[in-house]
Amino acid sequence: MPEGDTVRQAAKRLHSALAGTVLTRSDLRVPRFATADLTGRAVLDVTPRGKHLLTRVEGGLTLHSHLRMDGSWRVYANGQRWSGGPAHQIRAILGNADRTAVGYRLPVLELLRTTDEDRVVGHLGPDLLGPDWDPSLAMANLLRDPALPLGEALLDQRNLAGIGNVYKSELCFLLGVTPWLPLGELSPERAAQLPGLARKLLEYNRDRPVRNTTGRRDQNLFVYGRAARPCLRCRTEVRRADQGDGSRERPTYWCPVCQQGPAPVSGS
Ligand SMILES: [Zn+2]
Repeated sequence: MPEGDTVRQAAKRLHSALAGTVLTRSDLRVPRFATADLTGRAVLDVTPRGKHLLTRVEGGLTLHSHLRMDGSWRVYANGQRWSGGPAHQIRAILGNADRTAVGYRLPVLELLRTTDEDRVVGHLGPDLLGPDWDPSLAMANLLRDPALPLGEALLDQRNLAGIGNVYKSELCFLLGVTPWLPLGELSPERAAQLPGLARKLLEYNRDRPVRNTTGRRDQNLFVYGRAARPCLRCRTEVRRADQGDGSRERPTYWCPVCQQGPAPVSGS
């Protein structure tokens, strides 16, 4: 599942394949932009913003895409076999003389004026891996609604941009509190730790192919995906329950001993 680090890696791949070259192939397979043709335009840069990807091309246009749950951008040498999924899942193809970038299962794909980018990313809070990162603003955003459970607030990209469902569980574990703890009940010490810790996690994984939050080689994650297996710190069984993110329920993991705060009784 794409998080801030995954999106950044995708942006880096696209940027190194396309930036500074002229597009010789352009195919946007969404009804609204099916007739748009970007060939003949140079790609200026590919920039991640939170979990959004902005591909800027000559002539003041930006191709905005979002990976959501299982979208991806793959880059292939021309002539190489494409392997990202069946052809009907392809939403975008951008190519130059050497390479072709193929966007699979992109739930968001739209062409807009570069000057209008704020319309699609202007609502985002400070980007954990961006030049605009501002820990005090991120914390102030999070604390706007003190009754909101920490896990839900962390997923809200308007507070801070880049945390997805995996980091949500891992960050709560590292803070020693459950994802259901209302923000207003987070101790000042933990609140002070939170932004730095979140950034450290994403920084550490910026260029890693496999996400790692533990710093250990034998085990990449503390709790996420480890239901009913022993906690790495205290050996208690890790639990799993769903927690909403404002639109749908997401699997959430925690250690009932290492993490303080409320938790559902029905978790497994
Ligand atoms: Zn534990």
